[in-house]
Amino acid sequence: MRARTERDNALLAGSGIGAKQATEVAHELDTLARRQGVLEDEQLEVMEQREALDAHLDHARATLDAAEKELTAVTERRDAALLDIDSGEAGRHRARDEVVATLPAELLAAYERRRAQQGTGAALLQARRCQACRLELDRTALSELRVAAPDEIVHCEECGVILVRTPESGL
Ligand SMILES: [Zn+2]
Repeated sequence: MRARTERDNALLAGSGIGAKQATEVAHELDTLARRQGVLEDEQLEVMEQREALDAHLDHARATLDAAEKELTAVTERRDAALLDIDSGEAGRHRARDEVVATLPAELLAAYERRRAQQGTGAALLQARRCQACRLELDRTALSELRVAAPDEIVHCEECGVILVRTPESGL
């Protein structure tokens, strides 16, 4: 477009062109000038859009960076928690093995059988209430428990788990 304008200007400046041709050239120059104005406006608009997009992109990158940092921190906390859980579980397994080694075979068999059946093998009897099913034992069951030998295996009459008697059992 600029080349066209220069050519037209050269034509106008040169000698020997007719009045009609001069009018046409002047008209074209006018049209080109208007078109150039429109294109410059569009260029400006595109530059503004580009600046806005750049700012938006910078913001998005910063958000992404922050999210990635947060993800890394959360992942590290999760891994640490998993390690804690693993070592805690290993410790409980060791403690359980130690307890199991001290139990009479008959009691252990009864416990494992009950646990396989309903998920819970034994529960504390606290204040006359079975801590597995949360039900309070009736008078008859309680009096039977009172006369049972300390090493006798006793069960909850409601849910069947082995009841562990302590001074807090309310017997
Ligand atoms: Zn029960």
